[in-house]
Amino acid sequence: MTQMPINMDHHWMPFTNNRLFHQEPQMFEKAKGVRYWTPEGREVLDGSSGLFTCAAGHGRPEIAEAVYSQLQTLDYTPHFQRASANSFELAEKLAGILPEGLDRVFFASSGSEAVDSAIKICMAYHKAKGEPQRTKFVSRSWGYHGVNLGGTSLAGMVGNRRDFGGVTVDVVHMRHTWSEEQRYTCGQPESGAHLADDLEEICKTYGGETIAAVFVEPIAGSIGTIVPPVGYLKRLREIADKYGILLVFDEVITGFGRTGEAFAAQEFGVTPDVMTMAKALTNGTIPMSAVAVKTEIQQAIFDSILADRPELMHGYTYSAHPVACAAALATLGIYEKDGLFARGRALSPTFLDAVFSLRNLPQVSDLRGYGMMSGIQLTPGATPGAKGSLVQRKLFDAGLHVKATGDALIFAPPLVTEEGDLGAMVDILQKVLGQVELAA
Ligand code: PMP
Repeated sequence: MTQMPINMDHHWMPFTNNRLFHQEPQMFEKAKGVRYWTPEGREVLDGSSGLFTCAAGHGRPEIAEAVYSQLQTLDYTPHFQRASANSFELAEKLAGILPEGLDRVFFASSGSEAVDSAIKICMAYHKAKGEPQRTKFVSRSWGYHGVNLGGTSLAGMVGNRRDFGGVTVDVVHMRHTWSEEQRYTCGQPESGAHLADDLEEICKTYGGETIAAVFVEPIAGSIGTIVPPVGYLKRLREIADKYGILLVFDEVITGFGRTGEAFAAQEFGVTPDVMTMAKALTNGTIPMSAVAVKTEIQQAIFDSILADRPELMHGYTYSAHPVACAAALATLGIYEKDGLFARGRALSPTFLDAVFSLRNLPQVSDLRGYGMMSGIQLTPGATPGAKGSLVQRKLFDAGLHVKATGDALIFAPPLVTEEGDLGAMVDILQKVLGQVELAA
């Protein structure tokens, strides 16, 4: 492989310490299966499925061929009063794997767009039902719902709101569900369901009739895998029903087999009214996201609008992009043909055992995991987040790509990972973490 001199003056990288990156660039040039390669030809195992995106592994020819063929046939169509047939085919396929009752699908291009679309759909629904005063939203401390303005308001990872005061959506936060006694719990913590009662308290304080929806990630992903206590999501469902509030699951990370089922909703046996998804929808290849809603939500909005008008005054130039639809259809085809959701479930015990083998390290202060996702909490250093960033760089140098979030590592390899590669990933974690200065 060739090394080209790169001018880094112009690309402003997202969620990146750009100045540090310019000094120590960490570049990928190639990927296949569960491996990346750097421009120098060094192999780096993919311990975060890209960014929870590449569940089926990298470089799948089925997706490449579908994308190429679609580009040659119909490279673009707007979806405002026009359509390509594969958008309907994709929505139908998704309806087939979504929880019972969620069968209407709105497309966008990113998780953030899906979240903001979901906010608007919830507002439109309540207006259609004659309750336009339901404009308040509830989300959870430590939650991540993307970075558009609605999602930034919902954000419970408060660092993401640092520079953006006065954002538009009115949000009240519940507590997160992590507690000291849960340290080193593998799977769902037994206690903590009562934390869902925060929603009831908020309803009593503000009036349930002012609240449009409650947004939660079934497993909080971006903060470092916080698994819901047994009964917590069910309790949220009950309270939401009691007060006529829509329950929204943000499944941008948990969707497409990460928990063992197609969606975490099915895994935990709780059906939301609205669900967002993205990332693994196209195996990360082409930006695409979706909002799925219950039939009656779409119907209520349709019924409230005159027949000669668009029902929802919302949409994107790239909504249901035909090339993204082709990528998603090929991806869903792989998930089905290779039985990848079941494969993830079968691999999960081995994966979680491997993760929990890190318990012996003094550099680790908590481990959490469910399905094929885990959080490795590092013992805090002098500056919050500094250790996570240091470890992320050291892991890259040692041949493992893992996303750090603050002082937690998000370890969630592709669902196609072989046991040998999984072992190699954990060996790198053991070695690199074991060498980190405790006081670093
Ligand atoms: N919601 C959740 C739960 C997420 O994890 C993410 C991304 N990590 C988003 C929304 C935003 O997705 P995107 O980065 O594609 O906008």
